[in-house]
Amino acid sequence: MSSKETNKSALPENESATSTNLSQTSAERIKALRRQKIDVEDLIQKILDGNKTALSRAITLIESQQKKHNSNIKTIIKSCLPHANKSIRIGITGVPGVGKSTFIESFGLQLISEGKKVAVLAVDPTSSITRGSILGDKTRMEKLVLEQNAFIRPTASGESLGGVARKTRESILLCEAAGYDVILVETVGVGQSETAVHSMTDFFLLLKLAGAGDELQGIKRGIIEMADAIVINKADGENIKAAKNAKVEFNRALHMYPAKQNGWSPKVKLASALKNEGIDKVWSMISKYFETTKNNGYFEQKRIDQNKFWLKQSIEDALKKNFYQNETIKKALPEIFRKIEANETTPFEAAEYLLDLLNQN
Ligand code: GDP
Repeated sequence: MSSKETNKSALPENESATSTNLSQTSAERIKALRRQKIDVEDLIQKILDGNKTALSRAITLIESQQKKHNSNIKTIIKSCLPHANKSIRIGITGVPGVGKSTFIESFGLQLISEGKKVAVLAVDPTSSITRGSILGDKTRMEKLVLEQNAFIRPTASGESLGGVARKTRESILLCEAAGYDVILVETVGVGQSETAVHSMTDFFLLLKLAGAGDELQGIKRGIIEMADAIVINKADGENIKAAKNAKVEFNRALHMYPAKQNGWSPKVKLASALKNEGIDKVWSMISKYFETTKNNGYFEQKRIDQNKFWLKQSIEDALKKNFYQNETIKKALPEIFRKIEANETTPFEAAEYLLDLLNQN
């Protein structure tokens, strides 16, 4: 086992120490699951009762990708669905080191102090690239994990973004069925992970650091547009002045975009996650967002639109998989690539040919 994996396995999963070994890696959890007989009805009941161990086991089932679990997973999700959808889902992104875990810890504790139950999930596509994840390779949120009303789940690893996104969406439903009111979905801004998280959450929060007046440089195109709020973290000590300047600059940037249909104009806030300053203001801003969008119907509409998006996405993924795994296509592809290289055909003609070939099968 690599040291990264060892560290990752130290991530808390909130399972009671007696029932599950906290030092297990995701792969070990799945392996252990293979040996267990699953009483699906019992598992569902326990999830609905808010049992964290059962919730964890069900998420491990979702992550296992084993065909034999498919029907169990479907049954679990179907039974949980009527109890899901009641939470609010908040996406949180920012570069490594910006303070995501510190912020989530402070923010989560704030929510818990107000009587909420908080689940933290992560979408980390780096796990599929490096096999060790940016979000998972250190012990994080040590205080939050001790809370009875918190559930923290490390990201599913060794997967494509599409796979991780799907599993996270399904995990969100299970967390909601287990009674979690606020679901925080964390991501690092790698590849398309922000877009994926944006399309599975109601509110999208971008964490930033104040720089030397070049705040907008190096910021990914489209990310400002996705953000419902930008929180400038580490606004403490000597950083305060720069943070205030950054606030002005981000506000200006946000105003360059046309007003959103949802009746909400994105806000910029200052916070110090470390000193627990400004966190309550971030929460009251987010509460205001939910009040606004629930009143004007946008909240519901956005979730419907997201479901349609994921429906289309699933169909596209399945069609693609079907195409590339088809034996005739697999055999034909090398010759088509050769023709493309030799300029003997155009990409469009070749695509048409291959699709016809698939349809004939
Ligand atoms: P992540 O990689 O985005 O999850 O960032 P972390 O939460 O691990 O924080 C990275 C470093 O920044 C840690 O050393 C934190 O203690 C520190 N940090 C996080 N939030 C703040 C803050 O508000 N103020 C200051 N001064 N440091 C912070």
